[in-house]
Amino acid sequence: MASVDQQSGAAEAAPSTNGSAGIAVENPATGQVIATVPNVGAGEVARMAAQARVVQPGWEALGFEERGRIMRRAQKWVIDNQDRVIETIVSETGKTYEDAQLAEISYAASAFGFWAKNAEKYLADEKVRSANVFMTGKKLLVRYRPLGVVGVIGPWNYPLTNSFGDCIPALMAGNAVILKPSEVTPLTSLLMAECLEECGLPNQVFQVATGDGETGAALIDEVDMVMFTGSTRTGRKVAVRAAERLIPYSLELGGKDPMIVLRDADLERAANTAVFYAMANSGQTCISVERVYVEAPVYDEFVQKVTQKVAELRQGRAGGPGSVEVGAMTFPPQLDIVERHVTDAVEKGAKVLMGGKRREGEGLFFEPTVLTDVTHEMEAMTEETFGPTLPIMKVASAEEAIQRANDSMYGLGGSVFTNDLAKGEAVARRVRSGAVCVNDALINYLALELPMGGAKQSGVGTRHGAGGIRKYCEPQTIVISRPFPKRDIHMYPYTEKNTERMRKVLKFIHARGKRD
Ligand code: NDP
Repeated sequence: MASVDQQSGAAEAAPSTNGSAGIAVENPATGQVIATVPNVGAGEVARMAAQARVVQPGWEALGFEERGRIMRRAQKWVIDNQDRVIETIVSETGKTYEDAQLAEISYAASAFGFWAKNAEKYLADEKVRSANVFMTGKKLLVRYRPLGVVGVIGPWNYPLTNSFGDCIPALMAGNAVILKPSEVTPLTSLLMAECLEECGLPNQVFQVATGDGETGAALIDEVDMVMFTGSTRTGRKVAVRAAERLIPYSLELGGKDPMIVLRDADLERAANTAVFYAMANSGQTCISVERVYVEAPVYDEFVQKVTQKVAELRQGRAGGPGSVEVGAMTFPPQLDIVERHVTDAVEKGAKVLMGGKRREGEGLFFEPTVLTDVTHEMEAMTEETFGPTLPIMKVASAEEAIQRANDSMYGLGGSVFTNDLAKGEAVARRVRSGAVCVNDALINYLALELPMGGAKQSGVGTRHGAGGIRKYCEPQTIVISRPFPKRDIHMYPYTEKNTERMRKVLKFIHARGKRD
């Protein structure tokens, strides 16, 4: 990992750090240190923000077409350099080759193209017609002006998709961006800085502030808007800090996504989907399947299918394409949480049908785990586990499944399986989550046209779609009075005659005719 420090843009001058020599980045599948990056301090973050403010107007002035050209080059760069990008992601996360290819390379390439193509459409001036007669003849416009400098703070589970991914629409909107990746996985962000530089992005329009939580907090103090992805606990702190400065923020937080399997479901499809979306990325996905509710008549068959499929999974260090299905976990404390949830469930009466423990030997591995006889008294059913576990609960009816699905402080995603599509949609509408898929799970994330965000404590705001780029702008209303009289009726001086006229106008507009 050559010249990591030079890539950050944060380290061009001797950076002020948070008091440590740097952050050691480990490969979680081997425990080996693979790089060291600066722990950028508040002073350096302020310097980066000042530089960003200098270059942002020029970047905005380039316009959508020129900005889009650079993003399209980056789209190609990601595909042309995918082996290198995947290697970097795999080395700092421990995930499998396919987890990096499917959910990161493919997302980033698609997002570069999508925002290059659609940013202008989403941010085009909107002509508005008003029903108010006082606006007759006037030109009414809403335009979207970039906020200036956007701070993006990201988690460790998808360093390309979730840390870097949000920088793309922020940049396309005309902002300068400073990205604070997780201290656990900073290398992919630094590689993307290199990508954008090679693709012609002007200097300092995109900068990476490697560091820990203090670096993230310092970033909030400098930017004009903060886009945060991470835990609900940290998200709350981010919101408080942003509120103190009265800057806008968008939060993509934790989840505990329920899957509902109704008695008429295609059980083979439901079981394949449950296993894949619970175990992919070792379960470290905000919208992974975290808990399953199955109607009693099909419960045994579903559990049997799931158990068999989980038994067939190969787990280990990714040795290249097709080598393993389930990789390492990325963050040591997360492994402790998974273990705690499983232990708590077992102590309260859950059965472990598969896995249930850490894997012995090198690296951070938790065995793919299937739990049954679970209840809502167990953390495995109420708290975000974020690991390769699949707790399955028998329910008496669709009604009970919906009630249990909604018995959560989270509301990020969810899924329903049934052959009756109308019923599936009706159930989906009653699950209080940002997105619910019928006979599928999680796949909504790929449609960048669709808003993606959390209900309840899973977030504030959305990414993707029009809202996913407008949030990086401040709407400005412009009203142009074209044919204009010397004086409008409501202006000074106030006279009895004018006031009486106004009374008649108001009555004519708002109180004509009879009302029930
Ligand atoms: P954390 O909340 O622990 O950290 C997220 C980021 O915030 C990291 O870069 C972290 O830095 C930084 N940070 C820590 N403290 C502060 C602070 N006081 N002020 C500003 N920034 C701070 O989340 P994880 O990294 O553990 O990520 C996992 C979580 O992310 C899960 O809950 C998951 O559900 C959620 N997530 C949500 C997604 C969504 O779209 N809704 C997508 C992906 C993940 P550092 O790591 O250096 O401490």
